[in-house]
Amino acid sequence: MPERSESDSRKLLRRLRDSLALPGKGQDRLDRITHLIADSMGTEVCSIYLFRDEDTLELCATEGLRKDSVHKTRLKLGEGLVGRVARTAAPVNTADAPSEKGFRYMPETGEEIYSSFLGVPIQRVGEKLGVLVVQSKTARQFSDDEVYALEVVAMVLAEMTELGAFASDGDGMAALHKRPVMFRGGTGQEGTAEGHVWLHEPRVVVTNPVADDPLTEIDRIREAVGKLRVSIDDLLSAAALDKDQRQVLEAYRMFANSRGWLKRMEEDIARGLSAEAAVEKEQSAARARLEQVEDAYLRERLHDLDDLSNRLLRILTGQGTDTGAQMPEDPILVARNIGPAELLDYGRKLRGVVLEEGSVGSHAAIVARALAIPLVIHAERIITEALNGDHILVDGDTGVVHLRPDDTVARSLRDKMAMQAKAQERYASLRNLPAQSKCGTVTRLMMNAGLMADLPSIEGSGAEGVGLFRTELQFLIRNQMPKRDELARLYARVMEAAKGRPVAFRTLDIGSDKVLPYMKPQDEPNPAMGWRAIRVGLDKRGVLRMQVQALIRAAAGRPLTVMFPFVSELSEFRDARDELLHQFDREAAMGHPVPADLKIGAMLETPSLAFAPKEFFDLADFISIGGNDLKQFFFAADRENERVRRRYDMLNVSFLTFLGKIVTRCAESDTPLSFCGEDAGRPVEAMCLAALGIGSLSMRPASIGPVKALLRQVDLAEVRSVMAHARAAGAESVRPAIMGWLATLPE
Ligand code: PEP
Ligand code: MG
Repeated sequence: MPERSESDSRKLLRRLRDSLALPGKGQDRLDRITHLIADSMGTEVCSIYLFRDEDTLELCATEGLRKDSVHKTRLKLGEGLVGRVARTAAPVNTADAPSEKGFRYMPETGEEIYSSFLGVPIQRVGEKLGVLVVQSKTARQFSDDEVYALEVVAMVLAEMTELGAFASDGDGMAALHKRPVMFRGGTGQEGTAEGHVWLHEPRVVVTNPVADDPLTEIDRIREAVGKLRVSIDDLLSAAALDKDQRQVLEAYRMFANSRGWLKRMEEDIARGLSAEAAVEKEQSAARARLEQVEDAYLRERLHDLDDLSNRLLRILTGQGTDTGAQMPEDPILVARNIGPAELLDYGRKLRGVVLEEGSVGSHAAIVARALAIPLVIHAERIITEALNGDHILVDGDTGVVHLRPDDTVARSLRDKMAMQAKAQERYASLRNLPAQSKCGTVTRLMMNAGLMADLPSIEGSGAEGVGLFRTELQFLIRNQMPKRDELARLYARVMEAAKGRPVAFRTLDIGSDKVLPYMKPQDEPNPAMGWRAIRVGLDKRGVLRMQVQALIRAAAGRPLTVMFPFVSELSEFRDARDELLHQFDREAAMGHPVPADLKIGAMLETPSLAFAPKEFFDLADFISIGGNDLKQFFFAADRENERVRRRYDMLNVSFLTFLGKIVTRCAESDTPLSFCGEDAGRPVEAMCLAALGIGSLSMRPASIGPVKALLRQVDLAEVRSVMAHARAAGAESVRPAIMGWLATLPE
């Protein structure tokens, strides 16, 4: 890099900073800047285009183009050369702009006389803010140095935009992070909430993009990178890292030690940027690349680089994750992603959660469900847009988030929330009444749980007990295998919180999507059908034994209900049951008090078990249909795959026929049957399950009210008759007939 251009760009940045320090309106500042850049770069034209909305760029200031086109000339993202720079987040440098592909002539600007064109994006860590352009009459290609210098200037403009330097009223620019923005994500957990943003990782604010003394800045960045390297090495040498954590840290180490990364930042500093601004410039470039790559592995690595840049910024600025900011009232957590333990730490303080990533089956989603707070996943770019304390509305039912909503939007969500609250009041009045249908049948309504955080809901919901306690969650939120005594204490607390109501503890269901961080992950092509649940329990007896011992000890003489997940055949059930009985005898022999009553059941989650020998149905004290898994295997449709997971209806006649067969087989052996998949919590589906003769339904606590309300309203014999008619008429699903019939019922 020639020394001359270095000092030129430093000089330009300093002039820029001095000019920005002068008082004035946003528009005056923009005008001064374009003049200054054109003058320093020796071009006739300098223009600044800023985003008006997500895909419209507006000419906001110019030196050289017609002044009356300012705030009039607009371009769509991707339109013309300016739009191309904005879309690709990469410079366009051409000696002959009019013959460049995509050139769009804008007569109102008078730009036709300018041949050369150089445009660079104005962006700040992935947030596209606009485009900075210089043009000149002489047909010449701008040198690499000039491109680089203009990028550095654009970086400073981005920082100043972030700080609100160009905000003004009227025709001027709206300040950033002020506009209402809507995000269309996916549903992680239903429910609605209104509150204020609480960023899991607050943004780092850079207030000094331009530096006077490059040598000091170079020292600062070297020292910070040194600290970063040491901190990563420390993390890597810590014990109890799982394979994924190790892989991420190895990637961090690779980037942190990369000479290219540091060198590029040092070059930016030599151009006049401060150490912080140089890190952000690199981070912006990585984010821009991230938008272009499809490859999942590369995307992950670019995310790693992004995280690493954040760490480096925090070292440089001393702004930790704890910025001292006060958590706002009604906090709604906004994050790229979050682990289950961290989410649990926030606990019931939160009104909702919005993630840029996440998935329906993720552990965070499970925790959000336990906390009964709405969760929206895949809200892309929300962490770039949201600021701590921003007003935010979360609609977990539709997966939509409104950031800084205007009044009409806020009002309509509030109406929806008020209606939901009214319905909740109605459900609360049913809390102590049985789910007795008009025909006299009483269905037991139980709740699903998995964390201590779930248990308080047992009172409010009116659940008769816990029909499914997913024990794996306690294993998933830890970094190491819990100890037997620790588990025994926890299970005892669960039983105490249930106050004598039954709790069906399901033994560990790991594998598939539930991977324990401290167990060697299996490289399985199809983990949902792989080594999971009771298969692992039977092959790794130590864990199963430890868990059932903990359960027996927790019961301390009280009744105990245990069920085994994912049983596929009689012998598996027999084997697991024998193990439990053996431990029961062993505990008794050791003088520990044993449960007064022990019920051992199986989850029916694979079609094969419905066809097991009669001995299975006789041996099981109860059977619980795990509808989520059973449905995925019945229809061969992955429950985690967004494309197919909603494709097949539980009310499909084939599936109902199959469920009917299970009901008959259980009845023949007098074996109590329940259903604990998600469908049990949907009122219409629950009603049909009850009509089929399934006597107990286990669901999310929030679903108990709506399910009970409907069950109490209908005669199950009538439901059966509507279903039978639809089937006789050859329907593929009974849903249309059922919905039609429900519509005729009095309110
Ligand atoms: C099911 O499969 O329906 C079930 C209740 O278990 P899980 O969702 O935990 O797999
Ligand atoms: Mg299951």
